[in-house]
Amino acid sequence: MSLLLTRDEYEAIAAALPLPSGAVIDGRARASQTGATFETINPANGQVLNRIAACSKADLDLAVAKARETFEAGSWSRRHPSERKKAMIQLARLIRRNQHELAVLESLESGKPIHDVETIDIPEALNCLEWHAETADKIYDEVAPSGDDAVAMIVREPVGVVGCVLPWNFPILMLAWKLGPALAAGNSVIVKPAEETSMTALRIAELAREAGIPGGAFQVVTGLGEVIGREIGLHPDIDMVSFTGSTDVGRLFLEYSAKSNLKRIVLECGGKNPCIVFDDADLDRAVDAAVFMIYSLNGERCTSSSRLLVQDTVYDEVTKRVAEAAKRIKVGHPLDPETVVGPLIHPEHEEKVLSYFARAREEGATIAAGGEKVGDVGCYVHPTLFTGANNAMSIAQEEIFGPVLTAISFRDEEEALAIANDVQYGLAAYLWTNDLGRAMRMTDNLEAGMMWVNSENIRHLPTPFGGVKASGIGRDGGDWSFDFYMETVNVSFPRSTHKIPRLGG
Ligand code: NAD
Repeated sequence: MSLLLTRDEYEAIAAALPLPSGAVIDGRARASQTGATFETINPANGQVLNRIAACSKADLDLAVAKARETFEAGSWSRRHPSERKKAMIQLARLIRRNQHELAVLESLESGKPIHDVETIDIPEALNCLEWHAETADKIYDEVAPSGDDAVAMIVREPVGVVGCVLPWNFPILMLAWKLGPALAAGNSVIVKPAEETSMTALRIAELAREAGIPGGAFQVVTGLGEVIGREIGLHPDIDMVSFTGSTDVGRLFLEYSAKSNLKRIVLECGGKNPCIVFDDADLDRAVDAAVFMIYSLNGERCTSSSRLLVQDTVYDEVTKRVAEAAKRIKVGHPLDPETVVGPLIHPEHEEKVLSYFARAREEGATIAAGGEKVGDVGCYVHPTLFTGANNAMSIAQEEIFGPVLTAISFRDEEEALAIANDVQYGLAAYLWTNDLGRAMRMTDNLEAGMMWVNSENIRHLPTPFGGVKASGIGRDGGDWSFDFYMETVNVSFPRSTHKIPRLGG
């Protein structure tokens, strides 16, 4: 049975849906204390979609005070782990029950094709919440192999008040990646969604209350990055920040931490990921994967394979096939379940993407597919392929973050590796070869936190997700998330035989 509804059914849900707009602080939706709001835009038509509470420092201070109070009271942090598990599973159940409505909210504000939200984002978010819920009562502490004079326990405790700053490209999924482990560990969580995409986090916070999660354990403080994002980074009573977004803003969080209380900072940032195709690869599969990994999800994903490195012997054939596929992709309204590529997130981002079409021409690349806007209404661009590029061009170095692929040819392994590693980022890499020795040599030397050999991005939640170099610090996923959402504390007890040295005889 298909999970998907028809476009008419999605339009009907959209017309009837109440659009959440108030920050959720201490379990209640509220306007900001100043009454200020900011507008969000529907990228499918460029019209104002909603006005969201523009919180100020005073709102954040209130949320932090409530988060701390809840943490210290223990109504979540010390609730029996099996009870935390039940509440989180109930939250997942409520999300599932409201899946179509949440999918429509996400699609309306982000422009993501409804097909992707229904079949990728929400199922993966549910999987993440349920996986972490199940771990809540399975986090064991350790006893160290100490000598016979003491027992040394290594105890993991929740960090305390956790700030989560989200990007706009995976609003529900990034929320789940952070919320799942942070709540399972017993923290009090304050989420700041990206200003473009606040609505799903607000709705999920309401569902969390219904699921029995205390108001102070999960709050959503909406607002501008330069205001609320910055204040979260600088707040003296927030113990850690988990940030996903651009590398430039990630760097700011390290500064905020240094200037405030040295809070722990975890960063998941940008990428300019290579898809490297050798001439011995299964080219049918390589082409399908390259096309999928750059054009699906509007190309607005950190792990998109935005550089296609192809061995010179098969470069013309591969790029011709990718260009043909790009031209066949259906660009359309995000609520149409047949749409593969929807509108970009907002007009300024569309401007940025379009500016690379001009730069590609100036820099001497060839536009083999796309390279222009679609229609006059909404933020749509054609899936685009630049060929004849070299790695020094801006289209090869900078994260464009749209359905735009830059193809570069290489001679041999050594050159492929040099090109692949010659960027500031190191998030993901995709490798296509049937030579096992070559695959091992390449994966040993590629600078990336995640690599896929002969596949697109198949990822299992319990595996670590994150990058090296300017792509971030830390790993999300499975137990790795607990490395930063929990503190490791060493507690030693002397055995009765232990003698304390007496100074002075
Ligand atoms: P962004 O950096 O502009 O914004 C991310 C968040 O930071 C938003 O909530 C924003 O309000 C906030 N922010 C903005 N300016 C701020 C400031 N001065 N101080 C504090 N906070 C501020 O990123 P984006 O445009 O929302 O998302 C796209 C980026 O996210 C891309 O670079 C993409 O690669 C990256 N991303 C990475 C991953 C990953 O896991 N590695 C996943 C998704 C997205």
